[in-house]
Amino acid sequence: MLEITKKEMCCGCYGCINICPKQCISMEIDNEGFWYPDVDKSKCIGCNLCVNACPIINTPQNNVTKISAYACKNKDENIRINSSSGGVFTLLCEDVINNDGVVFGAAFDENFNVKHDYSTTLDGCDKFRGSKYVQSKINDTYRKVKEYLDKGKLVLFSGTPCQIAGLDAFLKNKYENLYLIDIACHGVPSPLVFKKYIKKIEHLNGSKIEAINFRDKSTGWNRYSFKIEFENSCLTENGYDNIYMKGFLKDVYLRPSCYSCLFKKPITSADLTLADYWGVKNKHAEFDDDRGVSLVLVNSKKGKFMLDAISNRMDVLETDLEFAINYNPCIVSPVKYNPNRKRFFGEFNKSDIEGIIVKYTRNSLKQRVKNKINKIISIIIASPGK
Ligand SMILES: Cc1cc2nc3c(=O)[nH]c(=O)nc-3n(C[C@H](O)[C@H](O)[C@H](O)COP(=O)(O)OP(=O)(O)OC[C@H]3O[C@@H](n4cnc5c(N)ncnc54)[C@H](O)[C@@H]3O)c2cc1C
Repeated sequence: MLEITKKEMCCGCYGCINICPKQCISMEIDNEGFWYPDVDKSKCIGCNLCVNACPIINTPQNNVTKISAYACKNKDENIRINSSSGGVFTLLCEDVINNDGVVFGAAFDENFNVKHDYSTTLDGCDKFRGSKYVQSKINDTYRKVKEYLDKGKLVLFSGTPCQIAGLDAFLKNKYENLYLIDIACHGVPSPLVFKKYIKKIEHLNGSKIEAINFRDKSTGWNRYSFKIEFENSCLTENGYDNIYMKGFLKDVYLRPSCYSCLFKKPITSADLTLADYWGVKNKHAEFDDDRGVSLVLVNSKKGKFMLDAISNRMDVLETDLEFAINYNPCIVSPVKYNPNRKRFFGEFNKSDIEGIIVKYTRNSLKQRVKNKINKIISIIIASPGK
């Protein structure tokens, strides 16, 4: 029987719930907003399917020996500008839907909860476009994937590396008709922190939220914006200045398992990995127009086949994996635990959400002094005659 004794030992992939033949596992949400399985012992028959489907207990052995890397841009400018990176994900959706397949990905529901869902139409895949920096709930989608695979449908499943490893462990068998795509993952923030944050923003604006874009490109891809559209107005902030994004990027409220993530390259269950090609301008200057470049990692033969199938609809260059990883360390290593995390969640329930994020993302005195000195130096350099 599955027993989670340490929170780091559960990535919240829902594999155990999907596989349980007695439906005796439920997900309980803790005070940080993350879900963990809870087994009803009176109904459990001790089959251990849940234990065998856990990707953390059964860490994947698929240590890929050769990964090739590509810089890619969707030729459709409209799709690219509305995607987080170079818009490669939508091209893969098009290929699968045109082959009568089904696509699974993360989408907002009507209340801005992030959940995995599926679509058999291209329009239906629009909701998966764009990164949502919140942990997505898998619910019963692994079972749905299996139903479609058993019917012989082509299935594309996209998600974080732990969600892909979870699906792989749930399915056990390899399916020719399954395409697995993971995204490079910094870590997944708490859905409860996000919920509290958007409630506060709605309250401050006195208006309901209609759309959220974590990676709006109206100020460029490198200096992207965080954008919220309300019924009667719009809030656009630099992505690195927005308080929710700051807490995310400073690792204050990620899922406990993210700080010791077991699914970093070269371990992967995915055929393709999608990421931002940060630093591309220092390798292929002519390729970077500040509208988004994807870094695509090909981890398997099937991955190469998938990439070849869409290559006539994008600009592609083979690139240097080591170089790209230098600008994107989350591909190969988990982020460091932020010691403020414990204090943050200790005060979280009784504090104003913005105030507490500001409190725990503030730079140390040493860092602030360093920043001030750097600022003064840059002013002096910029005005040499004075
Ligand atoms: C939590 C999180 C952390 C990330 N960290 C990094 C990073 O450190 N470095 C990096 O290069 N890239 C990171 N990314 C991925 C990156 O932001 C882009 O999603 C990726 O490059 C694909 O871009 P695209 O333009 O091809 O397609 P897009 O259309 O922008 O991507 C959409 C894809 O992202 C998936 N997705 C969106 N939100 C979630 C979610 N909450 N959970 C699971 N899947 C989701 C969709 O299912 C779809 O497959 C992260 C994404 C998320 C969601």
